[in-house]
Amino acid sequence: MGLVVQKYGGSSVADAEGIKRVAKRIVDAKKNGNQVVVVVSAMGDTTDELIDLAGQVSPIPAGREFDMLLTAGERISMALLAMAIKNLGHEAQSFTGSQAGVITDSVHNKARIIDVTPGRIRTALDEGNIAIVAGFQGVSQDKKDITTLGRGGSDTTAVALAAALDAEVCEIYTDVDGVFTADPRVVKKARKIDWISFEDMLELASSGSKVLLHRCVEYARRYNIPIHVRSSFSGLQGTWVSNEPHFDQGDQKVEQAIISGVAHDTSEAKITVVGVPDKPGEAANIFRAIADSQVNIDMIVQNVSAAATGLTDISFTLPKTEGRKAIDALEKTKTAVGFESLRYDDQIAKISLVGAGMKTNPGVTAGFFEALSDAGVNIELISTSEIRISVVTRADDVNEAVRAVHTAFGLDSDSDEAVVYGGTGR
Ligand code: ASP
Ligand code: MG
Repeated sequence: MGLVVQKYGGSSVADAEGIKRVAKRIVDAKKNGNQVVVVVSAMGDTTDELIDLAGQVSPIPAGREFDMLLTAGERISMALLAMAIKNLGHEAQSFTGSQAGVITDSVHNKARIIDVTPGRIRTALDEGNIAIVAGFQGVSQDKKDITTLGRGGSDTTAVALAAALDAEVCEIYTDVDGVFTADPRVVKKARKIDWISFEDMLELASSGSKVLLHRCVEYARRYNIPIHVRSSFSGLQGTWVSNEPHFDQGDQKVEQAIISGVAHDTSEAKITVVGVPDKPGEAANIFRAIADSQVNIDMIVQNVSAAATGLTDISFTLPKTEGRKAIDALEKTKTAVGFESLRYDDQIAKISLVGAGMKTNPGVTAGFFEALSDAGVNIELISTSEIRISVVTRADDVNEAVRAVHTAFGLDSDSDEAVVYGGTGR
C-alpha cells in the first residue's frame, strides 16, 4: 500500500461545494488502496481577510498573535474537510500543524521548518484514517508558540510531511492543470509541461512563476520527493517535478526540453545609484548598507565609468516592498560613498527564459533578444545563470514581451489548453 500526500489550495476549497468535491477525490485516492494524508489551505481569500482584520485593530500586529490568528483559517478548512469525508462514510481526523509535528524556528510570519515528527499522523493512518493536516503552520521548538511559514506555505507543509512520512509522491492540487510554459493568465497558448526537473522548476519559481513556491521545490529536491502538480477541478495528469523523468506517463516519452518556460515578475523595483566614484570599495559600501538593512537584492548592473568624470552608475533590483527601507539605508551612506543621487523606479518587469538545454544550445540568448526587439521591447538590465536569462523591461511591456518570447521559442500550443479554473494564481 502506497502513501500519498495531497495538498489542496484555497481556491479548491473555497466553499462548501468545493470541500465536498475535494472530499470525493480524497476518498477515491483511499479507495485506490493508498494511505492518504491531506494538507489543506484556508478557504478562498480567508487569509487575506484575516490579515485585513488584524490591520483594522492594530497597525503593526504582534507577530505571535498574528500567527495565532492566521492559523485559524486552516483550522476551519481542515475540520470541514474531515466532516465532509466522514459524511461519505470514511474515517478522517484533522490535525493542526503542531499536532502533526511540524516543528519550526520562532520567526513569526515566516518560520522555517526544522523538524517534522508525525507520530500522531502515523497512528491515525495505521488506524485506517485519512489524516487531514492544516497547512502553513507549525509550532516553535523553543517557545512552543504557534508559527506560520509565510504566504503560500501550505505547499511546503505538504512536501515536508511527504518527506517525513516517506511518501511516494506529493500531489499539489491547484486551480490550473499543472506547470505551464508561461503564466496561462497571460499566455493563452501556454502549454502544460509533462515533466520538469527540480533545477528548472527552482529557476522558474525564483523568476516569478507562482505555481510552486521556491522553498517548497527546494525542500522537495533536498529530500528527493517527486511533486505532481495538478488541478482539483479536472481529472487530467498534471506536471511531474522530479529528478528524473522516469515517471509512468502512459506511452508518452518525456524528455528534457531545451527551454522549460518563460516566467515574469512585476513585484520588483529598480534603484540606480547615480554618479558613484569608480574606485575600490564603493560597491562594497553600497551593498553592505543594503544588507545591513535586511534587504534582499536580485539583479545588479554597473555601467562602465565615463572617462571624463570617473563616475559610474550602479543599478539593482529588489522587491518593491523593500524599496523604502533600501532608499533610507542608502541615503545614510551618501557622504561616505560620495554618489550624486538615487533614482527609484517601480514601473519595471522582469522576464526570464529558463531551461537546462541552454547550457549546450548556442543561440538561445540571441533568439531571446531578437524576439524582444521584434516586439519593440527595450531591455534595461540583463542577468544570467547557467540555465536562465533574465531581462528588465518597462512594466507596460511585460505581457507582450512574454507572449513574443513564448512564440519565438516554439512553446505555443496548438490548442487553447491552458484553463484557469479559479483563484488568483496563488
Ligand atoms: N493560507 C495561506 C496563504 O494564503 C497558506 C497557503 O495558502 O498556502 O498564504
Ligand atoms: Mg492561499
